[in-house]
Amino acid sequence: MSGKESGRGGIGSLGELLVEFVCTGKDGHNRRAAPYVGPFASGAPGIFIDQAARVGARAIFSGAVGDDAFGDVLRARFDEAGVSNTLIRTVPGVPTGSAFVSYNTDGSRDFVFNIAHSAASHFPGDADAIETLRGFGLAAFHISGSTLGDPAMAKAALGICRALHEAGVAISFDPNIRKELLTDPSYMETVRALLAISTFVLPSAEDAEVLFPGEDFATFSGRLLGGGARYVVLKRGEKGCIGVERQGAAEAFDAHEVEVVDPTGAGDCFCATFVALVTSGNFSFSEALRRANAAGALAVGRIGPMEGNSTLVEIEAFLESRP
Ligand code: ATP
Ligand code: MG
Repeated sequence: MSGKESGRGGIGSLGELLVEFVCTGKDGHNRRAAPYVGPFASGAPGIFIDQAARVGARAIFSGAVGDDAFGDVLRARFDEAGVSNTLIRTVPGVPTGSAFVSYNTDGSRDFVFNIAHSAASHFPGDADAIETLRGFGLAAFHISGSTLGDPAMAKAALGICRALHEAGVAISFDPNIRKELLTDPSYMETVRALLAISTFVLPSAEDAEVLFPGEDFATFSGRLLGGGARYVVLKRGEKGCIGVERQGAAEAFDAHEVEVVDPTGAGDCFCATFVALVTSGNFSFSEALRRANAAGALAVGRIGPMEGNSTLVEIEAFLESRP
């Protein structure tokens, strides 16, 4: 193992690696012929780990790509960011995962995914992979709810998270709830099992409406903190964010006023900035949250799901340029 492969304070994640194509027109719902731009490196957990590395964390990812050009796009992106490729597998005979996104004028978006039947579903999750993750020296391991849509992927992801939690690694969970799966009892069981072992609980406003219906932030964060979480942060899109640390007071930040070019990935970028900075030990809870809020604003300004990811230097410069 090289110096970057071991030590303390690393950040890890796992799940679907995708290339994404973004429709340049609106309201076509992926049903009308139109110019798309891409391939962009994507997949919610991939966006997360790229950003964690960009803000300075030692980072490792368990994922898989096909033996094709799209797989090269993802590998090149992680190499550039400095994410360890020890657990990135190339699966012969299946294509790299993909996503097509088309935006609507009302702000909603339509996706076509190829995840379960692509290399994206083949991330390493066996005992050897768990051993490699433990040996990496992780401070936190992040899971996105986007990985839980396929039952086999959900089972593997939960198994890894449980093993790492038992080994003392802080679990970070962004529910990224998929509404079409709410009627599937095993999906919600996995979501609840992850909530129960998470140190970082990082829902969006839409996630909170589904998971904690009718409850305000103080109520559901209080319950989560009482149940073992240490940090609860609510991502509120163009309204900014609010978060609380166990035994601390809630902190809120308004969103920065920016032009929104492509909002996909802002949540993953936000989560990575927050988790990486808090676990680095160099930033207080409030300082980390402020920088995450800035990273989210930077993320929406560029087309492509992780093209708006930023380094700590870029985040500091952005904050200095703002009143
Ligand atoms: P996604 O799942 O699409 O990646 P999300 O729903 O998990 O996103 P959001 O709340 O949309 O997360 O965005 C995360 C953070 O990014 C917000 O809390 C905020 O700090 C920042 N952000 C998002 N949208 C905007 C915006 N329009 N203007 C400024 N900042 C934004
Ligand atoms: Mg989200």
